[in-house]
Amino acid sequence: MTNYLSFTDDHHLKYPFRPIAFHALKTSTMKTRKSWAEPYKIKMVELIKMTSPRQRLKAMQAAGYNTFLLKSEDVYIDLLTDSGTSAMSDRQWAGMMLGDEAYAGSRNFYNLEKAMQETYGYKYLVPTHQGRGAEHIISKLLIKKGDVVPGNMYFTTTRLHQELAGGTFVDVINDEAHDPKSEFLFKGNIDLKKLEAVINKYGAKRIPYVSMATTVNMAGGQPISMENLKAVRKLTRKHNIRIIHDMTRVAENAYFIKEREKGYANRTIASLVQEICSYTDGATMSAKKDALVNIGGFLALNDWDLFEEARNMVVIYEGLHTYGGLAGRDMEAMSIGIRESVDYDHMHARIGQVLYLGDKLIEAGVPIVHPVGSHGVFLDASAILKHVPQDHFPAQALAAALYINSGVRSMERGIVSAGRDAKTGKNHYPKLELVRLTIPRRVYTQAHMDVVAESVIDVFEKRKKINGLKMVYEPKYLRFFQARFEPLK
Ligand SMILES: *Cc1c(COP(=O)(O)O)cnc(C)c1O
Repeated sequence: MTNYLSFTDDHHLKYPFRPIAFHALKTSTMKTRKSWAEPYKIKMVELIKMTSPRQRLKAMQAAGYNTFLLKSEDVYIDLLTDSGTSAMSDRQWAGMMLGDEAYAGSRNFYNLEKAMQETYGYKYLVPTHQGRGAEHIISKLLIKKGDVVPGNMYFTTTRLHQELAGGTFVDVINDEAHDPKSEFLFKGNIDLKKLEAVINKYGAKRIPYVSMATTVNMAGGQPISMENLKAVRKLTRKHNIRIIHDMTRVAENAYFIKEREKGYANRTIASLVQEICSYTDGATMSAKKDALVNIGGFLALNDWDLFEEARNMVVIYEGLHTYGGLAGRDMEAMSIGIRESVDYDHMHARIGQVLYLGDKLIEAGVPIVHPVGSHGVFLDASAILKHVPQDHFPAQALAAALYINSGVRSMERGIVSAGRDAKTGKNHYPKLELVRLTIPRRVYTQAHMDVVAESVIDVFEKRKKINGLKMVYEPKYLRFFQARFEPLK
């Protein structure tokens, strides 16, 4: 295989600045991580606009107090999401020029298939336009009406596809995941007792698969441990239940296992990623995260019969099985991004930057989800806006206030994102009411992180002046994307 990377994965072992293992620490501190500097230099820049508080207030009003409805040109530092917002490398851009835009059998598909097989170890690849395309196919294929899908906390699109296919999602994540103050290092873990109770209650026949995510986005980017995953594999094997892996941030999860879990410190990210995947039967991937592309995803499977069915289905919903809604150049950039994503120096800088921001906020006493996760810092909006009840959307209000303060765009992960119960129509009331500051990969600098910290701290100090909101428009599905709000007096 071509090694696109200038450093080998064990490069850091030769250098003296290896950080202290996190499991030795209660709360991570900055002095342990001096060496996360970016393993790249900047070749091209995109200019961003500075705005005045008056302009930002007007823009927020026009956007119905929903940061998703802002125009991106009105945003100074965009931490809405890490999805599709990463900067591609020069090698990926060079790959774009090698796009083979044939309708069938593009060479970029075969490069992608090879990168996927070599990096993740799954046998068969079905490309899709992004992660939810793969979720749609696997849900339709495996879930029957009345089925139950246990998982380590829901993800919005994943759960919706499971429900639309006739299934009911059951959260079996460990309790610590719902406690933003808990310092537990593997909040992504599945509670085996909860999983066993679901199996006993419904029977293995009604459980098409366990939906297992690395890392758990909605819990704050929290990892699952290798030990837990092995135990889940053992239990599901006993009952003949599949594990379908939401592998959107598997390399980030592997980094945390290396840093925190006993016995893995000397392993490469690449080998840990392979081991994680080996305990599962298939995976859905949003390549817009770990894999460093602006668009793309896939479904990966080990079972030939299932793969055949998925391949038939992708033609209906996405595109031919050798492009799945993607241009050849997109697949080429993805195949290179997949290989870059498992490089230690890349991941050390990526997560190092997130932890840097988290540490600044912890030092200033801002309530955030502990420990800091892999792809962003999650502000605990219910602790910050104690005077705003959950029905008045505290996280939504905090995200709006942060934008008006400084032009930093974040997003709500609380009652608006949780939506309504599919059967009763009642609001879900999640325990976590969060504002997510999501860090794109390789896009912003340490100085940008300083600005973000300064403005979060400023808003925190003025928190008593922030009022709740009322929802004045609610879309039927995934309401957080398009809902509109007005401030309460
Ligand atoms: C983004 C994401 C998805 C969905 O992928 P898209 O590419 O946005 O369709 C699924 N699961 C998790 C954990 C995600 O973060």
